[in-house]
Amino acid sequence: MTLISTNTPTAELQALDAAHHMHPFTTGADLARKGARVITRAEGCWLTDSEGERILDGMAGLWCVNVGYGRKELAAAAARQMEELPYYNTFFQTTHVPAIQLSARLAELAPGDLNNVFYASSGSEANDTNIRLVRTYWEEKGQPERKVIISRWNAYHGSSVGSGSLGGMKGMHAQGGMPIPDIHHIDQPNWWAEGGDMTPEEFGLERARQLEQAIEEIGPEKVAAFIAEPVQGAGGVIIPPETYWPEIQRIVDKYGIILIADEVICGFGRTGNWFGSETMGIKPHIMTIAKGLSSGYQPIGGSIVNDEIAGVIGKTEFNHGYTYSGHPVAAAVALENLRILDEEGVVTRVREETGPYLKQKFEALADHPLVGEAKISGFMGSLALTPDKASRAPFAADAGTVGYICRERCFANNLVMRHVGDRMIISPPLVLSKDEIDTLIDRATRSLDECHAELKKQGLM
Ligand code: PMP
Repeated sequence: MTLISTNTPTAELQALDAAHHMHPFTTGADLARKGARVITRAEGCWLTDSEGERILDGMAGLWCVNVGYGRKELAAAAARQMEELPYYNTFFQTTHVPAIQLSARLAELAPGDLNNVFYASSGSEANDTNIRLVRTYWEEKGQPERKVIISRWNAYHGSSVGSGSLGGMKGMHAQGGMPIPDIHHIDQPNWWAEGGDMTPEEFGLERARQLEQAIEEIGPEKVAAFIAEPVQGAGGVIIPPETYWPEIQRIVDKYGIILIADEVICGFGRTGNWFGSETMGIKPHIMTIAKGLSSGYQPIGGSIVNDEIAGVIGKTEFNHGYTYSGHPVAAAVALENLRILDEEGVVTRVREETGPYLKQKFEALADHPLVGEAKISGFMGSLALTPDKASRAPFAADAGTVGYICRERCFANNLVMRHVGDRMIISPPLVLSKDEIDTLIDRATRSLDECHAELKKQGLM
């Protein structure tokens, strides 16, 4: 066996990685040529790579490390649970203490009568559960024709066949036989890119009313549910106009369909409240959770289901579940993570202190010549890059060309900031301090300046 460690030279690690490791959402051949950046350690909001560079993590890993890296309490919770009961299932009339504790805690935290948790190991799996859950619910209610789930273009709900079908990523649908039947997509509330001459408020209403049109076209008796992220994340951190969610709520109520809020990113403090649904003022019947639930320290996700739906499902055998549903180690770590978020006032601080501070600095980036729009909700924000602010025009180059250049500048300046097309996005750990916010903004500004200069040099602007 090849002996490798974090002390192995970077080039060697990269060569082995290229030879044997298939990366998600990556063109493997391109990465093999370039070499992946090898992350070796992390503490707080800072990553260290195999060259010893310290990088500010503006994305909290993949939107998940809410309490920051290096929390020894979470390692201790995992170790304790591994020694006591490393695994047991919850299929055959058994349960265990971590699953009981976590479920009870989530029922306390979740709004209203969202009191029942069905576990998975990821957001994708949880959304697969939701597809079967809502259809089974309507079957049990004597309305088996209610199968259609309405979602939105450019939504992200996961990467499995079911959740990827719910999502509205056309590049994903193009590969491997998606979407599955009875999923219908309406347009997203992305005013910057698609609002035309409408005001944001008019546009928000217009996009929400597409839900009503879709229900009427499909037939209200055939629609099971509507699923959406309170704030689209992977689609580019699209914060909807204020008119959008109230109108969606009105339509959902009018037709009595199930509202699924995908809280995989928005949950656990990201928008300054425990859940994005609270920030957006909506009342979902089911919430999808993952990521911040354990701050990414363990793979765990789930569906928090209201009493009515859980009651109906509970009357039949729901033939669904995963080996690791409610995994005791993941549950124990999640519970400890929720304690930290609560007792250290992390969520409150984002809402009342660091969130407003970041907002003020981040929104000021809209003055940069390259930035058309700078929007942020709590600790998730995005910058729309444009060659012409007034017309909100896209660049002449293929979408994503400029975003990629900007991202490369961020990387070179030791700041992790992602690009989605030509939008730059941030979603830092919720423990980012004011000093670190200053550093993030400084590095982002420098990267934007360098990107601007590069675009001029290449004649792209
Ligand atoms: N829903 C949303 C809103 C997400 O952002 C993601 C992941 N980015 C998922 C679901 C899928 O979660 P996972 O990658 O854990 O399967």
